[in-house]
Amino acid sequence: MNTRDLSANAPYVPGRGVEEVARDLGLDPDELVKLSSNENPFGPSPKAVEAAQAAAEDAHVYPKAAHADLTEKLAATWDLAPAQVWVSPGADGALDYLARATLSPGDTVLVPEPGFAYYPMSARYHHGEVTTYPVEKADGFAQTADAILDAYDGERIVYVTTPHNPAGTELPREELVALLEGVDEETLVVADEAYGEYTDTPSAAGLLDEYENVAVTRTFSKAYGLAGLRIGYALVPEAWADAYARVNTPFAANAVALDAAIAALDDDDHVEKSVESARWARDYIRAELDAPTFDSAGNFVLAEVGDGSAVAERAQERGVIVRDTGSFGLPECVRISCGTEAETREAVE
Ligand code: PMP
Repeated sequence: MNTRDLSANAPYVPGRGVEEVARDLGLDPDELVKLSSNENPFGPSPKAVEAAQAAAEDAHVYPKAAHADLTEKLAATWDLAPAQVWVSPGADGALDYLARATLSPGDTVLVPEPGFAYYPMSARYHHGEVTTYPVEKADGFAQTADAILDAYDGERIVYVTTPHNPAGTELPREELVALLEGVDEETLVVADEAYGEYTDTPSAAGLLDEYENVAVTRTFSKAYGLAGLRIGYALVPEAWADAYARVNTPFAANAVALDAAIAALDDDDHVEKSVESARWARDYIRAELDAPTFDSAGNFVLAEVGDGSAVAERAQERGVIVRDTGSFGLPECVRISCGTEAETREAVE
């Protein structure tokens, strides 16, 4: 007995972990500066840590059905009905739920190229086919409805990332509206806002009142500093009221993550500090780095350095881990996450 043919399912390639690099360099992991996965350099809110510790005491009990507490809190935050909030294990889990809710075998999705690797993976896991639209380096990775609609051919899902990973550019609100106007009613536009906290552009969640074919994905992995707990969510059209119960993996968001996320939502100061620091760091990197960089609304900067893997390797020898973007199809670039002030200065020195 074998698996089905999984050859189209390329494995996800994460940035290298601190332990692995430290072992290679014969260093203590604490001596390394990890700026390769767009994590929050300040860690989680202390309030979230406290809530997580308390929740761990009751780890023998299943989480609440449908993750009611976090769902209700998010619904109030976004001014949506609780049924429009799909809590998930990371934004990746939210992407899976959206694919599961919309794709039939053989349906096609449209993904950005370069772009976040999990869109095609998630679509293929759900028996979808994948086509791409370009986000052009020659245009500074500007994102436009026209570029997407030129490639669009009635796909069931169109993924947009705003801010974009790895470029950092946004799909401006008027472009998103033009895209929603330009696609068929049966096409879902997924606006992935994993880095949404780092920009002032209003969330696409505000369009859920007007459009029935848009969904938003968000995460606690970035500005909220909870990447290790795997917690995120989708905001979905009102008409999908009973769909979550039909597509979610039962209890997939764990009780520790749920309580940590609730506490994190109450710590505005921590998020503000994290976002302000990232904004300082991305300006600093762009001003000080000796290489062309691209405008970023996220907590990272993409830089065109010539030979990305050589530059990433040299940085690693100095104890700084950055992301070589070869796996995004940009071997000439590296992506540098915003660290604390000291880390960022060290990275760019
Ligand atoms: N979307 C984008 C654009 C991302 O960069 C990431 C994480 N790297 C995700 C989604 C997934 O985030 P999570 O950790 O919540 O699964």
